[in-house]
Amino acid sequence: MEKLQKGAILVLSGPSGAGKSTIIHAASKEIGEYYFSISTTTRPARVGEEDGVDYFFVTKESFEEDIKAGNFLEYAQVHGNYYGTSLKPVRDALDAGKLVIFDIDIQGHRLVRAKMNDITTSAFITPPTLSDLEERLRARCTDNENVISQRITNAKKEIYAVGEYDFTIINDTVDEAAKEFVIVAKAARLKQSEVDESQFITQWLD
Ligand code: 5GP
Repeated sequence: MEKLQKGAILVLSGPSGAGKSTIIHAASKEIGEYYFSISTTTRPARVGEEDGVDYFFVTKESFEEDIKAGNFLEYAQVHGNYYGTSLKPVRDALDAGKLVIFDIDIQGHRLVRAKMNDITTSAFITPPTLSDLEERLRARCTDNENVISQRITNAKKEIYAVGEYDFTIINDTVDEAAKEFVIVAKAARLKQSEVDESQFITQWLD
């Protein structure tokens, strides 16, 4: 029988430095066709980051215009900067039946749940402990000490939201975490929305 499901959303949250992008990259060949939602942010680009690849880097004015125009599915202020998900590319990818992956913070997860709960699956990704996180943030050498301590303060608050997620992935080794991520991505694709359910039943009864 033809698969009726449109798209599905997989929200990933977790502290900066948890290894989310490394895990997605490591698992990318095994999770089928997906669309990674590129967020828009007002934070400055880090060394090695590219506009349109890692983020769309914009000014505060331009971000606030997009808010007014209703262009964001969700947005939040994190570490003193705006971060947001543009609605249109997400809609297009969902219409094309893709798995849409978001790397967004806990506020963004709550907003996506409020708007698109029926097609959303979520995972919280974190290093095993706070000290592992600190070590990783220092090792990647992309942020100064102020930025690192701000991220750690934020992580200490965000960990309390871990129970709001469907899954927790402990990133101890990338290999193991990527394997778990593949399972979560498959589960996200299998989750069905109410609309799909009624379409499925009609077709099944035929
Ligand atoms: P970073 O500055 O390390 O790239 O990201 C900082 C935090 O912002 C991370 O927790 C990341 O998940 C979150 N973030 C990135 N893009 C978005 C977005 O579009 N919306 C929301 N709500 N959070 C985001």
